[in-house]
Amino acid sequence: MTETPAEDLKPTFLGDVTVELVKHTASDTDVLFAARVSTLGEQSIDELSKDPERSKGLINYLMRDRHGSPFEHNSMTFLISAPIFVFREFMRHRVGWSYNEESGRYRELQPTFYVPDADRKLVQEGRPGKYVFVEGTQAQQELTTRVMEDSYRQAYEAYQEMLAAGVAREVARAVLPVGLFSSMYATCNARSLMHFLGLRTQHELAKVPSFPQREIEMVGEKMEAEWAALMPLTYAAFNGNGRVAP
Ligand SMILES: Cc1cc2nc3c(=O)[nH]c(=O)nc-3n(C[C@H](O)[C@H](O)[C@H](O)COP(=O)(O)OP(=O)(O)OC[C@H]3O[C@@H](n4cnc5c(N)ncnc54)[C@H](O)[C@@H]3O)c2cc1C
Repeated sequence: MTETPAEDLKPTFLGDVTVELVKHTASDTDVLFAARVSTLGEQSIDELSKDPERSKGLINYLMRDRHGSPFEHNSMTFLISAPIFVFREFMRHRVGWSYNEESGRYRELQPTFYVPDADRKLVQEGRPGKYVFVEGTQAQQELTTRVMEDSYRQAYEAYQEMLAAGVAREVARAVLPVGLFSSMYATCNARSLMHFLGLRTQHELAKVPSFPQREIEMVGEKMEAEWAALMPLTYAAFNGNGRVAP
């Protein structure tokens, strides 16, 4: 086992998540080719670029009438770095997703922890299903930052103490909190991503509003931006039809 340099063991605190599109084969033509095989068989690939307006119309029709399978013939792999509590919500999305996450058994976990940025609304008001979030006072913001950072430092020291005494990583990690950052590869297709975005983002065009936790929404927004650039016609049809996955 290689020893972790001492400077890497000092906790760092982050208020944002990162999402990198590492691999993809995803374009609007993948949708058209899959849809047109129903009527044109193997000639469908030749038809792709013939009539752009018809192509746009076809994608919109598939989205509107919820013909979902043509949106599955593509693939996007994201490298996501976010707190464990976000991954816990993320991995509830079972269909059309593949995950691989860093291991707390095989490597020493690095001390990067989540502390909300100043623009993260801190105070929840209302009742279940009708919550709104409002800014906290400066005192609440300072308290949150101080208490979180102290608690993270203490937890990480306890983890280090156990590792130094020879306790296995898989045992010692039990003291680390869900605010610890983890990283994973998540691979999906446009259909499974749309289902995820419908549930994990709040958007004015959504026909069925959802109320996700802000931190998973931050991940969703970054994935959405990458996907929108790859499949602009599909993305426009998703928004135009109320952000409901087909
Ligand atoms: C705002 C919000 C709050 C939430 N709060 C909670 C909570 O308090 N507690 C909690 O446990 N979870 C909670 N969840 C998680 C939620 O219940 C879902 O597990 C999660 O959103 C994944 O959705 P999904 O099952 O539709 O996705 P996927 O697992 O990707 O499934 C996609 C679709 O496939 C079909 N499908 C998949 N599996 C089955 C199956 N076994 N049987 C039949 N059809 C299936 C369904 O049509 C489903 O919509 C919350 C989610 C959101 C968005």
